[in-house]
Amino acid sequence: MSASNTPRVRFAPSPTGKLHVGNVRTALLNWLFARKNDGAFILRIDDTDLERSTKAYEDGLREDLTWLGLKWDETFSQSDRFDQYEAAADKLKKEGTLYPCYETADELDRQRKLQRVQGKPPVYNRHALSLSDEDKKALEAEGRQPHWRFKLSGNPVTWDDVVRGEQSIDTASISDPVLIRADGSFLYTLPSVVDDIDAKITHVIRGEDHVTNSGAQIEIFQALSDHLPKFAHMPLLVGADGKGLSKRLGSLSMGELRDQHIEPLAICSLLGKIGTSDPIEARPSMDVLVEEFSFDKVGRAPARFDEAELLLINGRLLHETPYADVKERLDALGVSGGEALWLAVRSNVEKLSDVEDWSRILFEKSEGKIEEEDKEFCAQAAALMPGSVDEDSWGPWLTAVKTETGRKGKGLFMPLRRALTGMDHGPEMGPLLALMGADRAKARLNGKAG
Ligand code: GLU
Repeated sequence: MSASNTPRVRFAPSPTGKLHVGNVRTALLNWLFARKNDGAFILRIDDTDLERSTKAYEDGLREDLTWLGLKWDETFSQSDRFDQYEAAADKLKKEGTLYPCYETADELDRQRKLQRVQGKPPVYNRHALSLSDEDKKALEAEGRQPHWRFKLSGNPVTWDDVVRGEQSIDTASISDPVLIRADGSFLYTLPSVVDDIDAKITHVIRGEDHVTNSGAQIEIFQALSDHLPKFAHMPLLVGADGKGLSKRLGSLSMGELRDQHIEPLAICSLLGKIGTSDPIEARPSMDVLVEEFSFDKVGRAPARFDEAELLLINGRLLHETPYADVKERLDALGVSGGEALWLAVRSNVEKLSDVEDWSRILFEKSEGKIEEEDKEFCAQAAALMPGSVDEDSWGPWLTAVKTETGRKGKGLFMPLRRALTGMDHGPEMGPLLALMGADRAKARLNGKAG
């Protein structure tokens, strides 16, 4: 793409809570699209709600995005731009497309109930448009402060959605949106449009829960400028069962996943692929995810988020991870055993913290797990164990045990694994034997603590 039509996209979270899987997916898809097309990924902090927004949440979401590898090229906060929103509101007021309304929440509620009873859609009746200046003065004298609605055209708004194709929202079927509350504060709708114009956003990529909103926002774009971004509305996340995300999954935060030792690349591999035509598998790097990204692959069916799949991908990634990439975190976990331990067990971990279990099994004193009928066999195996062992000792020793005892297959192998590790499953035994050493191995085979 040439510089003039280089994409500019934004991720616009509200700092009123933690980043969860749903909004991380939106962030990721914006980021992937920007990177794929040499565009700009802009982090916009939607903090117009001064009461609910906090600096701590803002810091948290920046930290989470950084952890995930989603670096932004530019960032700004809506709370620094109230003057621009006021200016846009003034322009709309002057043109008569932003008009004052005086109904209380109760009155509106009653109106909607009545409409429902009459079988009509609960759309705002535009009563305020017929108020004279005197009426308004009288209402204000009563102590009422106006809230402000944008006057929709009443015509269908159409656009070619990057994901959903041709879209049409009949603005006659939706209420004129409130842009400014009675206390003077802005709802999200207008600031978002003003920012998208000023930041020259080329693609608004967000969840399909915003489709109706886009119908109204397109008319606001048109009222304010010639700039109109493209829209890409992504299908929402659902749970593994195809139903809406459970409350727990819906609010599953990056902090929780980090605490559970889930790799950021596993999260991005899964969230970048669900709901697309690509296979859902671990990807070795963010570069590969970028390379593979295309909106053409995004379907309209909801994207299934399955925690079990996340764990599977997490394990797959670790199985290929070199020691240098995990050394610091293993040190922080207090795991000893260094590279040899990592290489011995990485194919058997789902999460990095599973290494702690293997470290305990190999290096903490414990008794072997031996069935009654295997006691003598294990003692024989202990007697055949060489004085010192390395990774290559397992094969010849096993052969010697086989020859001496006449056992083979599972009956040969399983009692030894159990006696040495206490487990029925696990990594290859050669490296484990070398790590635990001959003395410990002998003690455990003899049913003693070692
Ligand atoms: N702050 C809005 C939200 O989180 C942004 C929506 C948008 O992308 O326009 O829903």
